[in-house]
Amino acid sequence: MRRSYKFLMRPTAHQQAALTACLDDHRALYNAALLERREAYKRSQVSIRYGDQSAQLKEIRAYDPDQAHWSFSSQQATLRRLDKAFRAFFDRVKAGRTPGFPRFKGRGWFDTVEWPEDGDGCRWNSQPEHPSATFVRLQGVGHVRVHQHRPVRGRVKTISVKREGSRWYVVLSCDDVPAEILPATGAVVGVDMGVASFLTTSDGEQVGNPRRLAASAEKLAAAQQDLARKKRGSKRRRKAVARVAALHGKVRRQRLDGAHKVANALIRRYDMIVHEDLRIANMTKSPAPKPDGEGGYLPNRAAAKAGLNNSILDAGWGVFLGILAHKAESAGRELISVDPRNTSRTCAPCGHVAKENRATQAEFACTACGHTAHADVNAAINILGAGLALREAAAA
Ligand SMILES: [Zn+2]
Repeated sequence: MRRSYKFLMRPTAHQQAALTACLDDHRALYNAALLERREAYKRSQVSIRYGDQSAQLKEIRAYDPDQAHWSFSSQQATLRRLDKAFRAFFDRVKAGRTPGFPRFKGRGWFDTVEWPEDGDGCRWNSQPEHPSATFVRLQGVGHVRVHQHRPVRGRVKTISVKREGSRWYVVLSCDDVPAEILPATGAVVGVDMGVASFLTTSDGEQVGNPRRLAASAEKLAAAQQDLARKKRGSKRRRKAVARVAALHGKVRRQRLDGAHKVANALIRRYDMIVHEDLRIANMTKSPAPKPDGEGGYLPNRAAAKAGLNNSILDAGWGVFLGILAHKAESAGRELISVDPRNTSRTCAPCGHVAKENRATQAEFACTACGHTAHADVNAAINILGAGLALREAAAA
């Protein structure tokens, strides 16, 4: 199995300056290589390949002492990254679309350098004899202290450095990570992903409140509007950009934090987890309008914000399911996705399907058998049922 680890680095002031120079010089290389490709394409419709540019690296390093400072392999990785951008560009052209030409990277738009092989211009755990701290050695930067908050398993393959705002991270991609199979619990669960609570289980538990995330999302939307009003090149605009970036980071961290916690809790307790197929769910879910009691509908604050909030929540579910799938595989748990259609309007005990069963957003009341339940719990039980049926069908 492959997995990646992301750790905060604690560079000294000197190392921070070196890391910044490392990004800047790799960015300069990227832009120079892009310029070369652009010109060649404009002048004579010739496309320059990765191999051509990689072959020039030696010369570039010979006359540019700044470039000679850094790892040959991380520079190659940067050229490969440009190559990938060009391939994507030509693929889109071939598909009949009119994509934008790959762009020059400005300051702040080039935040990652990758070393494709541990031991080549970089070394994970470069001071293993140190009693308490972990270090990563990066060519041209030195041994940088890493806040390693969890053990690294498997074999470190690639090492990347990433700048996020004022923080620096090291990202390890590891191969051959052993699975850590958890003991069977004999319990199975269905989960309904919702708006009022992030997730409701067929056991009647509600986990996670996406409102906190929605609140950050609202702030982010406001900051983006604010940014749009600022004049290009102004100091205020730079500040507004920093604020948008910081809020983006906050939303991302909140989302990941929550997703890891919820996924861990489910994986520990259940052998099999059934969830909705998100691709189908996204097409069918919409916020329920509030009836005004006179046959019409009240203007709904939720509906007005639904566009933004839904997109934020949808992204949250996508992130969550990705993490859950990864943890399930590693722990030897079974994960099943089912068609979510009708799960919210079907009565779990009697099977009666009707829109009218859904008395309100939160309440389920079967018009056939009179069964009442929390609407999301009822849906989660149906989701579990659909998953069990799928598994049975597969076994037969
Ligand atoms: Zn019923």
